[in-house]
Amino acid sequence: MIFSDPTTSSRPSAPTGPATVQLLQGIIDTAREAVFVVDDAMRIKASNRAACTVFSRGNASLEQRRLSEVIRDVHLHTAFRASIDKQETADLKLELGAMEKRTFDIHIAPFESQGQRHAIGFFYDVTQVERLEKVRQEFLSNISHELRTPLTSIMAFVETLEDGAIDDGENNRRFLSVIRRNAERMHVLIADILELSLIESGNVSIDKSHVRVAHLVSEIFDSLSAKALQREIILSHDIDPEGRVCADLGRLEQMLTNLIDNAIKFNRTSGSVEVTLKQTNGRSVISVADTGEGIMSEHLGRIFERFYRLDRGRTREVGGTGLGLAIVKHLSRLHGGEVSVESELGRGTVFHIELPAN
Ligand code: ATP
Ligand code: MG
Repeated sequence: MIFSDPTTSSRPSAPTGPATVQLLQGIIDTAREAVFVVDDAMRIKASNRAACTVFSRGNASLEQRRLSEVIRDVHLHTAFRASIDKQETADLKLELGAMEKRTFDIHIAPFESQGQRHAIGFFYDVTQVERLEKVRQEFLSNISHELRTPLTSIMAFVETLEDGAIDDGENNRRFLSVIRRNAERMHVLIADILELSLIESGNVSIDKSHVRVAHLVSEIFDSLSAKALQREIILSHDIDPEGRVCADLGRLEQMLTNLIDNAIKFNRTSGSVEVTLKQTNGRSVISVADTGEGIMSEHLGRIFERFYRLDRGRTREVGGTGLGLAIVKHLSRLHGGEVSVESELGRGTVFHIELPAN
């Protein structure tokens, strides 16, 4: 029980009566934050339901247990002790939990009840907020990094031209083309970031129709044929010309273009890329398989994250920023579907886009 018996309370002005106690108990039990009271002997005198869920394995009662037995953290122990002894409030942030670590903002305040000193702690779970903040920081640092590389190159070549290379008939055009290539790279990057944030914010409408997959895949093959030819990669599909999926034509094209582009970029020379369509139980699955090096299992869960690339150096050579798969993931979900990947080292990788039938 959380609140002490009102008939023995030393505070005559406090609300009394079993109904009031029940009401207060109910209120504090509805709080999402874990709350508990520790007495002078460092034992838990009272707690709410959230505290029990978060800190008690097997949901056993926390009352009368030692604080150090329930939460083994020396900083927390010290803060409660200080609050009780010195009658001061304390705020701290701690990672707690034996199995799954969670981050808590903790506010501890002293109070007296029945002539005894106590401290009450409020545990605000900020794990999710912290995680989002980390994602935001990583995102900003990734963007800055990705923009800085081409920008540094542009500035260096502009300086070289200013320092006289502009009159160097043999090299000036080459320098200009490097500047153009890097500027284009920045342009693509910014367009992808804007695109991704638009999709993520849900401000993209999906206009579904019955798309003929064979036709679309052939068109994408045509647009990527020069790139495939350069590395002697064979692009093929055996999709029934009448096979259709329910999707936004432009968005499906965008998703498949990235998957097929990746399958070419990360393939071996003279490898192949094959696209298939399977339709069962009201779901359509379009798969893009390649004969590349494959992806190690520890990366598989992360490649759909923004900016995630296996081998930054090599990927930069082939011109990727690591946003393509994040866009594919969000677009698949907007369609009510999902994207997944399977890979075998040394043999190749298959990406599947699964879409509902309608
Ligand atoms: P972008 O698509 O933004 O131009 P990218 O192609 O590098 O850049 P993603 O499409 O998001 O980025 O892919 C993320 C990373 O996953 C790639 O950098 C690559 O390391 C890995 N990857 C993607 N597809 C394959 C594949 N078919 N085989 C092996 N690795 C792959
Ligand atoms: Mg890509």
